[in-house]
Amino acid sequence: MVELAGFKTLDDLPENLTGKRVLVRVDFNVPMQDGAISDDTRLRAAVPTIAELSDKGAIVLLLSHFGRPKGQNRPDMSTALLVKPLGELTGRSVRFVEDCAGPQAERAASFMLPGDIGILENTRFHDGEEKNDPELAKDMAALGDYYVNDAFSAAHRAHASTEGVAHLLPSFAGRAMEAELKALEKALGNPERPVAAVVGGAKVSTKLAVLGHLVGRVDHLIIGGGMANTFLAARGVNVGKSLYEKDLLGEVESIFERAEAAGCTIHLPYDVVVADEFKPHPDGARNVSIHEVADDEMILDIGPAAVEALADVLKTCRTLVWNGPLGAFETPPFDAATVALARVAAALTQDGSLVSVAGGGDTVAALNQAGAAQDFTFVSTAGGAFLEWMEGRTLPGVAALERA
Ligand code: ADP
Ligand code: MG
Repeated sequence: MVELAGFKTLDDLPENLTGKRVLVRVDFNVPMQDGAISDDTRLRAAVPTIAELSDKGAIVLLLSHFGRPKGQNRPDMSTALLVKPLGELTGRSVRFVEDCAGPQAERAASFMLPGDIGILENTRFHDGEEKNDPELAKDMAALGDYYVNDAFSAAHRAHASTEGVAHLLPSFAGRAMEAELKALEKALGNPERPVAAVVGGAKVSTKLAVLGHLVGRVDHLIIGGGMANTFLAARGVNVGKSLYEKDLLGEVESIFERAEAAGCTIHLPYDVVVADEFKPHPDGARNVSIHEVADDEMILDIGPAAVEALADVLKTCRTLVWNGPLGAFETPPFDAATVALARVAAALTQDGSLVSVAGGGDTVAALNQAGAAQDFTFVSTAGGAFLEWMEGRTLPGVAALERA
C-alpha cells in the first residue's frame, strides 16, 4: 500500500458536514470552442469530490481559474459559463456566485443551504490571485470552514486559491488530488523496482530537468522522439536533417555520466524510421539502422527492432513512468513505435506485472490514439504540474496541504 500520511483527505473531515462551508479548489480551466466546452474532462474529474461533500450536507463553494483574464472582468471567461454543464454532469442544481471573495460572495454564500453547490467567479478576475496576495487569500478563506484542493493540475502555481488560502483553513486533498498523489507516489516516490522511464517528445532542452532527476531514480531510461536524435548525435551518429540540438551535446554527455554513476541504463534506438520530407506517408519513408541515415533524411520515429528491445526491457520492470511520444505521432506512419510500445505497456499493466503512469499533453493524446490510455494504471492530464513533478520539484499547492 502507498502511504499518503503527509496529507489529510476527505476521510479526515467530519462525517456530518451539515451547513459547513467547504471551499473546493478545482481546475475548471476547460478548453472552449465557439462558446461551448470542447472537452469536459476537468469538470468530470471533480464530480466525485463535489458529490461526496454535497451528500454530507456541506455548502460546496467551487474556486477555479478559467482562461487568462489577467485581473480583468472578462464575460467570455466567466465561470458562469460552466454552471449549466456542471449541473448536467452532477445531476444537481448548481448556482453561480458573482465573486470569489468579498462582500458579494459572502452574501451569496449566506443564502445557500446544506448540500448546495455554487461556482464562484473566476479567481483570476482578481489580480491578487496570481500574485498570491495574502489579502485575497484571507477574503477567500473567510467564505469557508474548510478548504479542499482537488486541482493537482494547478498545484505547481503558488496562487491565492491554490496555496495562500490553504494555510488559513483546515486543508484536505480532494478525491482526484488524492488519486493523483497516490499514483505519482507509486511511480517515482516509492516504486517497486526495476523502474523504467520513457522520455520522448521534441526537444531535450524542454526536458533537461526531467532527465536530470530521472537518471538518479530509475533503473532504465528510455529515450525516444526528437530527443533521441540529440543523444545519438552526442554518440557520433550522423542524424542527417533530423531535429536535434547541437548546443546541448555537452549536457547530454553529462547525463550519460550521471546515469553511469547512478547505475541507470540509458536506452537509445538501434534502428529508426526516416524520410526526406515530413508529411503523412511520404514515399521515401524507410526503416534503417541508426548508421544508415542519409544526409538529406530526418529521423521521425524509432524503429521496430528498437521497440522490440524496449518491450523486453519493460517485461523485466515493475514500474513505468512515461512522458513524451517516441516519434512524430501526429503524422502517420511515425506513430508506429509509440502505439506499439504503449500497447505493450498496457498489456503488461493488465497482466498485473507493471504499474504504469503517464502524463503530458501530447503523451495523453498519443496513448488515446493507441487505445492504451484506459489500460494504464494512471494517466495524468495535469500537463505542467506533471512535468514539474517529473523534475522532482515540490509543488506549492501540494506542499501547502502537508500536515503541519
Ligand atoms: P508532451 O506534451 O507529452 O510533454 P512533448 O510536447 O514534449 O510531449 O512532445 C511531443 C511532440 O514531439 C509531438 O508534437 C511530436 O510530433 C514531437 N516529436 C516526437 N518525435 C519527433 C521527431 N523524431 N522529430 C520531430 N518531432 C518529434
Ligand atoms: Mg506537448
